[in-house]
Amino acid sequence: MSLNKQGTCLCKATRLNLTLASTDITACHCNMCRKWTGGPLLTVHCTTPPMIEGPAPSVYDSSPWAQRGFCGQCGTHLFYRLKEQDLYVVPAGLLDGEESWTFTEQIFIDEKPAWYCFKNETRNLTGQEVFDQFAPS
Ligand SMILES: [Zn+2]
Ligand SMILES: [Zn+2]
Repeated sequence: MSLNKQGTCLCKATRLNLTLASTDITACHCNMCRKWTGGPLLTVHCTTPPMIEGPAPSVYDSSPWAQRGFCGQCGTHLFYRLKEQDLYVVPAGLLDGEESWTFTEQIFIDEKPAWYCFKNETRNLTGQEVFDQFAPS
């Protein structure tokens, strides 16, 4: 399955064309995502790097293995990228239109603060379980 979706940043200077593997949504509760966005980060998973039109995104190296991109004009978060795998996730809120997304997964569940929780039934992974998925075997 392959889905093509379009999205924009808040000021609409940046337009993204995405190819997604599925309608699945992942929430990340890690400390860095919550610092970056102000809350849990809800994303879709790209199968290929997004095609980005408009001004080149500002990019922040948030760790040795990952980058975070944002619109330099309005600050909208555009993507999280695993550098080595060239793997992108994009915040679901950028995408236009009514979508039947499926909220399937929560990661870094061990870093979620106690003061909120989603009531959706999802697969939940700790930070260590996520790292193990991407570690070279
Ligand atoms: Zn913008
Ligand atoms: Zn995170």
